Amino acid sequence: MSDLPELIGPAPDLIDPVIGYRQWRLVDRTLSSLFNDTRWARARLTAHCDSREHHPEVVPDHACSCGIYAYYDPCPRTASAATRDLVAGAVVMWGHVELHGTGLRAEHAQIVALELPLSLGSKRRTVLEITDQLGVVAVAHRRLRSVARQQGVPIDSSLRPPRVREPIVGSWRWSLVS
Ligand SMILES: [Zn+2]
Repeated sequence: MSDLPELIGPAPDLIDPVIGYRQWRLVDRTLSSLFNDTRWARARLTAHCDSREHHPEVVPDHACSCGIYAYYDPCPRTASAATRDLVAGAVVMWGHVELHGTGLRAEHAQIVALELPLSLGSKRRTVLEITDQLGVVAVAHRRLRSVARQQGVPIDSSLRPPRVREPIVGSWRWSLVS
């Protein structure tokens, strides 16, 4: 039921929260996941799975596509800066974690920082409004990594499975409760 790439070896024992980078879409001045309509009304989210194909308390499941997704590295600044409604940011993730070629899936995630748009217009005001509501910081793209490292650890490249040709984005299907 899943076309996610196979993992190599068991998941590492991750004790500290790990850093991930994501993008969101601005919908009604709220952050929304890109590939479903999950609203991030709070900084912290816990994933759940309604596939009924594995134990509901094991999220993300290795063979399923559930969990909260993030990339290992920041999204290119141009991926969101040039748009009216995409916002990039950093999260820390913990609980069950599955590692893939370009990113990871986790049980829990908390926003650390959102990236400030280059423009001074309404998108910037909305991002500042959201970071204020969520109690997180808004930072320039170049500061995203250093701010994230104050609250989590990056997944070492030696732990990352090899990249696969298919982007994992194509199989992003998950649901969340806040
Ligand atoms: Zn699942």
